[in-house]
Amino acid sequence: MNNLQRTFENPDMFDFRSFSHRLYIGGQWRQSSEDRLIEVIDPSTEAVIAAVPDATPADVADAVDAAATAAPGWRETAPRRRSEILRRCFELMIERSEMLAALISLENGKALRDARGEVAYAAEFFRWNAEEAVRISGEFCIAPSGANRIVVDYQPIGVCVLITPWNFPAAMATRKIAPALAAGCTVILKPASETPLTAYALAALYEEAGVPPGVVNVLTTSNPGPVTSAMLADPRVRKLSFTGSTGVGRILLAEAAKHVISCSMELGGNAPFIVFDDADLDAALDGAMIAKMRNAGEACTAANRLYVQAGIHDAFCEGLRKRMAALKVGAGTEAETECGPMITGKAVSKIDRLVKDAVRRGAKVLCGGSVTDDTGYFYPPTVLCDVPEDAELAHEEIFGPVAPISSFQDEAEVIRRANETEYGLAAYVYTSDLAKGMRVASKIETGMIAVNRGLMSDPAAPFGGVKQSGLGREGGQHHGIAEFMEAKYIAVTM
Ligand code: NAP
Repeated sequence: MNNLQRTFENPDMFDFRSFSHRLYIGGQWRQSSEDRLIEVIDPSTEAVIAAVPDATPADVADAVDAAATAAPGWRETAPRRRSEILRRCFELMIERSEMLAALISLENGKALRDARGEVAYAAEFFRWNAEEAVRISGEFCIAPSGANRIVVDYQPIGVCVLITPWNFPAAMATRKIAPALAAGCTVILKPASETPLTAYALAALYEEAGVPPGVVNVLTTSNPGPVTSAMLADPRVRKLSFTGSTGVGRILLAEAAKHVISCSMELGGNAPFIVFDDADLDAALDGAMIAKMRNAGEACTAANRLYVQAGIHDAFCEGLRKRMAALKVGAGTEAETECGPMITGKAVSKIDRLVKDAVRRGAKVLCGGSVTDDTGYFYPPTVLCDVPEDAELAHEEIFGPVAPISSFQDEAEVIRRANETEYGLAAYVYTSDLAKGMRVASKIETGMIAVNRGLMSDPAAPFGGVKQSGLGREGGQHHGIAEFMEAKYIAVTM
């Protein structure tokens, strides 16, 4: 019996099969109005593990009705009460963290240790926003003319549509749901088709924590374009918050523009990881392993291009090769696994194409570099060096366990190369000269940059990108919650 079976055989843990075949709308667990299903696949074994409903237009209309019906009551619920419910969501997530981690690992394939990290991170959005819910304040001042007072009241924006990707099935949902609920909004979540079980498991947990019916609704669909268009066309929907690829983000921005709907967009990345000669080599290698291999490279913040200064280049390449080659690859749910499978066979084919392209253009393979024919969507940890600037993987998200290294000579060159991308989400710099680190950080065109760290995500910090990596911020002091509120100006003569 493996870890996962032990977890689900435990009678204290609920069985994910109990909410298979059910949508969560208006506090009801109900079947789709037609009996179409979406199969959920374990990427480690390619076996079908569950099926979830494929929502019809009628289900979508019901979800918007439910969210709109619940909106006035939730908006009028005292901030203290909303805060207590969010706090309870946090506590329940922590109590159930082993079960949630096992479920994430099962449907996404990520190593259990990554899944445990995700649950802790995801739960933190509830704790943080429970604290924020009671600190929403307005503004009050005298108009410059002296004729009146200016009062600014921050109000919940209304019904929100939330769309999330498969790579962090819990955290990408809670990063939206927690601030939306703290602000007083109601939501309809559409999770990725590959990882819907975590979204439904969390919906059951919100219900238990006291989130009233209709405040959170979850629906799954194999037809996300038309379903989203139908929701955005409903005038009661006032917000779209999307996390996913830049390509789909562009389509959704155009769709939202038709109805002038407020959009928050967390899109793709192409993070540079820069190591200067004066960096602490071991610290840089530790950081590179985290920045590259958290989630087996399936992260928007993943180091996508590693630039290493000429003096430290060979030692860094050898150090990274050793660490990557030593990683234990296997089913995500096995305790000792350090690198799980990719999400789909299509994802493996894309990585394989990018690596072959880089090698054809002159890159050298230091380890990994080819697909094995094992069952499951596996790609081995791979290190490439001498990667030329025109390699496709220097411009596209790899989204897998491949570290492409190239060397640079000086600061100006590496800043130019780091900025040669349409993306601007995350970046990393390693140097023992803090002034240089800060200087480079200020010139790199990204929304976030880690100096001498391989990880930057923190619910207390504003997460988001510039350029084509997105619009708006999630988390942070006031930033995340502000995305779900609108300022109302009231002019008062006294
Ligand atoms: P994706 O293909 O863009 O899908 C994301 C979500 O959008 C899924 O729920 C998907 O549903 C839905 N979707 C797809 N086409 C749609 C359409 N025409 N209209 C409405 N919804 C649509 O991205 P992914 O492959 O799941 O995730 C990986 C991407 O997300 C990467 O680019 C990564 O960088 C990005 N990401 C960004 C952040 C960030 O914070 N910036 C965080 C995590 C991931 P289906 O699953 O049903 O297709």
